Amino acid sequence: MTETISDNIEQTLVLIKPDGLVKSLTGNIIDKLSESELVIVGAKMVSVDKDLAETHYKDLKDQKFFEELIQYIMGAYHTRRVLALVYEGENAIQRVRHITGDTNPEKASPTSLRGKYGRITTSGVFENVVHASSSFEDAKREIQLWFKPGELTKVIFDTKEEEVTKKEAVWK
Ligand code: UDP
Ligand code: MG
Repeated sequence: MTETISDNIEQTLVLIKPDGLVKSLTGNIIDKLSESELVIVGAKMVSVDKDLAETHYKDLKDQKFFEELIQYIMGAYHTRRVLALVYEGENAIQRVRHITGDTNPEKASPTSLRGKYGRITTSGVFENVVHASSSFEDAKREIQLWFKPGELTKVIFDTKEEEVTKKEAVWK
């Protein structure tokens, strides 16, 4: 009898946070993540508004660092830009978290992204250069928050057809 090894193909959201962008770490971070042999299925630069920031971090609403965290991800201390990426592949969530390292940059392995490039500010915010989804439920919620289905190179979650009529800027 042969044992069946089932692939656990997952998607996960990675954000290169404003400090990562200001420190010109985009290349280093993507290079390090490429060691995982995962595939990028979505990528875009985002100017984060309050609504997106608060929805993304809604589970941390009661934490004392919440307001500072919202300011940080909105770019108040660095630049109002975030690079949002969706990685796909076997055990993507855990593998990216491993490369990312502990939330606290001082506790993170020195070879992890946060251990290498993160810092704690004097006001106590962990400026840890990257975000990575921490569970399947979080990954699904976060990918659906940051990306529309058509912005990914493949359909990864169920979609539905909806008539959308709204004004938007187009090139003159
Ligand atoms: N954070 C912080 N102080 C803390 C815990 C978290 O400044 O004591 C910030 C940090 O930027 C972290 C983010 O809040 O990445 C989200 O926290 P979470 O506990 O979800 O950690 P993560 O999933 O990012 O490792
Ligand atoms: Mg988290």
